[in-house]
Amino acid sequence: MSENTDTMGTILFTKEQIETRAAEIGAQISKDYEGEEVYLVGTLRGAVVWMGDIMKNITCDTEIDFIVASSYGSGTTSSGVVKIKKDLDGDIYGKNVIIIEDIVDTGTTLKYLKEHLADRNPKSIRICTLLDKPSRRIAEIDADYVGFSIENLFVIGYGLDYDQKYRNLPYISYLEG
Ligand code: 5GP
Repeated sequence: MSENTDTMGTILFTKEQIETRAAEIGAQISKDYEGEEVYLVGTLRGAVVWMGDIMKNITCDTEIDFIVASSYGSGTTSSGVVKIKKDLDGDIYGKNVIIIEDIVDTGTTLKYLKEHLADRNPKSIRICTLLDKPSRRIAEIDADYVGFSIENLFVIGYGLDYDQKYRNLPYISYLEG
């Protein structure tokens, strides 16, 4: 059996590469917010694995919460419509919010999400994304912490799905066409 028989798609980033990057970003966040508390908002479901990696590497006092916003239907094309399907459980007034996102593609979801959360008057809002596809951007928004920038590829694994599958893959790979 060849080494890659069980691999789904073509691997872009291994678990080790992603964990190393999460440690670097976690250390940067810990430095940037030294002496302060951070309120991590994970976007379900895609950011769940990345959120786990990032939070382990933050040394500041940390609260976590989750939100579900969706702009995608099934398959690989965006509908462009954003809906909040599950809002935060906690109050972010006066807090240092960091949105933990899986991937910024057109930016539509994140722009909406950031504005939605900014209305509640947190002390600050930043964005930490595992992946960034800058060439696809439509909305004017950029992440403050970026794991990796990638070309215009449809990626799966490490939380990212294709029709709700493959989120459990311990690497990020891309599917052809
Ligand atoms: P945006 O609003 O930036 O266009 O879309 C962001 C959301 O679309 C991401 O949070 C993610 O759920 C989904 N998405 C965008 N690109 C990809 C991709 O390459 N693979 C997967 N699995 N989801 C993607």
